[in-house]
Amino acid sequence: MPQVRGGRHHSINQNGGPALTRYSVDCRELPGDNDCDVKICGSEEHLVEAAAVHMITHHRHADTPELREEVRKSMKPEADD
Ligand SMILES: [Zn+2]
Repeated sequence: MPQVRGGRHHSINQNGGPALTRYSVDCRELPGDNDCDVKICGSEEHLVEAAAVHMITHHRHADTPELREEVRKSMKPEADD
C-alpha cells in the first residue's frame, strides 16, 4: 500500500476520541486508466492526499483541485473491524 511521506500533519483527532473513520478509494472508480487495481484507505485528509499522489505519479494526472474533488466523491467509508 502506498505510503505518503513528508506530508503535512493534521491533528484531526484532537480530543483523543474514538478512532477516525477510515475511507477507501478504489482506483478503478477514479477517472483515468481503469486497469489499475490499487485501492487506498485512510482517514479523509490522508486518503485524499495519498490518492492524489497516486494519480499524479502513477497515472500522470494533473495536480488539480478537481482531482482531489474526484477522489473525495469516490471515497467510501471503510468498515474497520
Ligand atoms: Zn491507479
